[in-house]
Amino acid sequence: MRISDLYNNEKTVLSFEVFPPKKTSPIESVYGVLEELCDLKPAYMSVTYGAGGTASDNTCAIATRVKHTYGVEALAHITCVNSSKDEVSRVLDSFKENDIENVLALRGDIVPGLPPKTDFHHASELTEFIKQKGGFYVAGACYPEVHPEAENEITDILNLKKKVDAGAEFLISQLFFDNQSFYDFEKRCRLAGITVPIEAGIMPVVNTKQIQRMVSLCGASLPSKFSRIMTRYESRPEALRDAGIAYAIDQCVDLISSGVRGIHLYTMNNPYVARRIVEGVGKLL
Ligand code: FAD
Repeated sequence: MRISDLYNNEKTVLSFEVFPPKKTSPIESVYGVLEELCDLKPAYMSVTYGAGGTASDNTCAIATRVKHTYGVEALAHITCVNSSKDEVSRVLDSFKENDIENVLALRGDIVPGLPPKTDFHHASELTEFIKQKGGFYVAGACYPEVHPEAENEITDILNLKKKVDAGAEFLISQLFFDNQSFYDFEKRCRLAGITVPIEAGIMPVVNTKQIQRMVSLCGASLPSKFSRIMTRYESRPEALRDAGIAYAIDQCVDLISSGVRGIHLYTMNNPYVARRIVEGVGKLL
């Protein structure tokens, strides 16, 4: 199934992201989580690649299981910063052999001390390579609060346009906590002639460790409404979890009623939290 066809429908697309287990854990350790998440019937499920020290070859295995065992369409992430063309090609071949036809083409983060390989410099080049190889539908990542390495918001949008022109059929955004930053970004995209659907990345924050890590990694700004919640409940884990879920639901309700094309839920492999979000917004899509 071509995921971008889902946006032809009036309904808001609700999708999930999962990550493979760490290299030290067996792949089976994530099966229970996958099954519970798939039971919630997301429109599709994306599977990260090599992020945070996970084994990248598990991406294909997990995407295959999601699609063929649990019957949910899969979007496999693939990065290029540390890969040659041959290596990327081999990964794509393994996707193809397993009937994974939707991929999220990413540059990937530059790891300090590990010089990037030189076959690809940007996700737009990877997108072009995948399109030339053929047989895949490609999506791309985008950054409502501007990619941390970008010179400014204008060059970032112009670079994003190159990725779309290279063949990205829809975009998934970095997480954000202030919907206005997403609305402003969407406006900049439309002005730049980027017309593809953009899914809003939402991460329910359910513990303080997670928030510190996320903000240092992606630089999302924290509205005062959000910071007040974190401060008030930081020493009460269950209250913090419930407040974080309520905040994410509030963000989703606002986005859906404003006509967002899709919401991509960063589930952090937590079916309980995903279920609460689906219960909160499932009937509003
Ligand atoms: P690009 O689109 O290449 O952009 C990176 C930077 O280069 C930007 O500053 C951009 O403005 C600039 N740029 C782009 N094109 C050009 C050009 N032609 N000329 C000059 N400058 C240019 N990381 C993982 O390791 N694994 C994952 O599974 C993963 N999944 C992700 C999913 C989503 C939805 C998002 C938002 C991010 C994900 N990431 C993942 C993180 C991502 O790899 C990093 O944010 C990375 O730094 C940028 O990747 P990109 O594909 O957006 O890069």
